[in-house]
Amino acid sequence: MQATRIGDFEVRRITEFEGPFIAPEVFFPEFDPQVLRANPDMAGPRLVDPATGKLVFSFHSFVVKTGHHTILVDACIGNDKERPTRPQFHRMRSGFLADLARAGVKVEDVDYVLCTHLHWDHVGWNTRLEGNRWVPTFPNARYIVARREFEHWQEVQRRGEDSPHRLAFEDSVLPVVQTGQAMLVGDDYALEDGFRFESAPGHTPGTVVIHVRSKDDSALFLGDVVHHQFQLMQPAWSTLACTDPALSRKTRTRLVEEHAARGTRLLPAHFPAPTVGRIVRHGAAYRYAFE
Ligand SMILES: [Zn+2]
Repeated sequence: MQATRIGDFEVRRITEFEGPFIAPEVFFPEFDPQVLRANPDMAGPRLVDPATGKLVFSFHSFVVKTGHHTILVDACIGNDKERPTRPQFHRMRSGFLADLARAGVKVEDVDYVLCTHLHWDHVGWNTRLEGNRWVPTFPNARYIVARREFEHWQEVQRRGEDSPHRLAFEDSVLPVVQTGQAMLVGDDYALEDGFRFESAPGHTPGTVVIHVRSKDDSALFLGDVVHHQFQLMQPAWSTLACTDPALSRKTRTRLVEEHAARGTRLLPAHFPAPTVGRIVRHGAAYRYAFE
């Protein structure tokens, strides 16, 4: 990926998978095909795979070089993870680390890993398998996690819930806690370099979006507040994966309106290439304008 510049910062997207992922009527419990029929220009091949009818998703991390630090925002899916209920990604072997190296980043270079939330597809590369142990992939990194988010998944783990998120908490979050590399923070945490968390609950209880600013330039890592461009036509559509669909809807609607009005440059977690863009008005709702 070509680098995106935000002031003095350089941002690159490291993609682990991009392609058809899930059918819209499965992913959005309130999906209404009439909304698509009314907006035929919104259903192009980049949004929905013509062969399968599934939503096109990208799973990627962003790596930011600030000049002082190398920062990873979210950590994708990971290799060798036991994800039996996600057969596409079960015991996957991807070229993620090689792609990171091609972007000029060795694992030792990463100073911080910022987590928007702790779902399985955002924490995988926190760790890698060494023998039969999960060890931190980034030996020198601090892993920054909102305490509210951590405590929620800790409780899910204690209950032994049968979900890929519980498995991910065990194989991709707890190991970095055990080495002392995790930092649990408030959901208004700020990192000196120009990064600032903002609470955006609903998709998960402790989801944060991450503001980034350098010089007069800024952008927003949107995490999973919006998964797919269809949710800009219909911000009310929460997903199968949302812990609290009503709160997720409220947060999404607020942030979509706010950042459309401001023209904020956005870095969403699942939009396909070229990913970076802005939300713009489209009739009574919104659409995404890729950069
Ligand atoms: Zn996700």
